[in-house]
Amino acid sequence: MPSVRVAPTTRTVPFAHPLIGEEEKGAVLEVLSGTVLVHGPKSHEFEEAFARYTGAPYAVSVSSCTAAMHVVYEAWGIGAGDEVIVPAQTHAATAHAIIMAGATPVFVDSERATGNIDIDQLESKVTERTKAIAVVHFLGLPVDMQRVIEIANRYDLKVLEDCALSLGATYHGWHTGLLGQAGCFSFYPVKHMTTAEGGMVITKDRNVAERVMRTRAFGIDRTPAERSEPGIYDVTMHGYNYRLNEVQAAIGIEQLKKVPGWLATRRWHASRLREQLASVAGIRQLGADPGTAGAAYCHSIVLEEETWSRPEVVAELNRRGVGTSVYYPRPVPHMTYYRKTFGFTTDSFPVAAEISSQSIALPVGPHLSEEDIRYVATQVREVCSR
Ligand SMILES: *Cc1c(COP(=O)(O)O)cnc(C)c1O
Repeated sequence: MPSVRVAPTTRTVPFAHPLIGEEEKGAVLEVLSGTVLVHGPKSHEFEEAFARYTGAPYAVSVSSCTAAMHVVYEAWGIGAGDEVIVPAQTHAATAHAIIMAGATPVFVDSERATGNIDIDQLESKVTERTKAIAVVHFLGLPVDMQRVIEIANRYDLKVLEDCALSLGATYHGWHTGLLGQAGCFSFYPVKHMTTAEGGMVITKDRNVAERVMRTRAFGIDRTPAERSEPGIYDVTMHGYNYRLNEVQAAIGIEQLKKVPGWLATRRWHASRLREQLASVAGIRQLGADPGTAGAAYCHSIVLEEETWSRPEVVAELNRRGVGTSVYYPRPVPHMTYYRKTFGFTTDSFPVAAEISSQSIALPVGPHLSEEDIRYVATQVREVCSR
């Protein structure tokens, strides 16, 4: 075999990994040393802290963002025969949750500048079956909610915000998740903060908050603390086991305290990358609309020159120690299950497809140093100028 001389990588910059500190470990041990593992004070404390941080009247913890979206649709009475409009460019969970509720997802292509749902195409997707619009703040870049809400109001539709990647993002001063009727968050390991697995619903609607509180726990009418006689309760609605447990909530409380500092680091890193990549020809950088503050989940570039093969650019960046990811590898309607179930073809949703096939998510965040970010920018500049 001929030996290939490979330049040594001078640095390894992982795309993302969770940051669990001594505070989280201590909080977990404290829960494990007690006797209350579910339905305890930690989940209430976490919900209150999350409501304070986002400015939400109500925050209800659940086991994942997927669970959050599912129970919100159920709380709205959305089910069989109903349609929910959803962006093609998102995590499969955003569409799966609609199917979990028994409804049908109706996909919309992306806009080029942000990767968010193309609002110009929204109205043409509304039918007499449409009950809600789900938006995703793509990679933490807030959707233009005022335009979405105008359309929703015109047709009397609910608006669900998938905020899995937008913790900390604001739209004209409002935290994402508070513009529509419900916002759903994820605490999966590589999101802005983690509880290993976990989620949260925020809402201004007391009825939605109360329904989610019941459906996350089997539809039982009272929690153990609310029972006057131990073990005695009634089931007043259909429900699930979608609770966040005390161990997870204890991690969440400690993580949330660190979010403001982490968010500042993410935004600073993203702005450094944006500046240092501005002069690179043939790439476009996804960016937030005026009046919004993104949550800078990552910094996403789109290779615009067709001569560039993304697999080659990614392989070269990875070889140089730059961790990357792709959001998302295919538009959801192009995934095998959705093609088979709904008959979508791969020539549909062209802008979402371009983002899937030509974008590269670059790392930012508190696991990285300023030198790491400079290194990433230098490597991207070199690789993309060859
Ligand atoms: C991660 C993610 C989800 C799924 O979150 P879970 O907590 O794992 O259910 C949903 N939507 C988007 C946009 C995501 O990035």
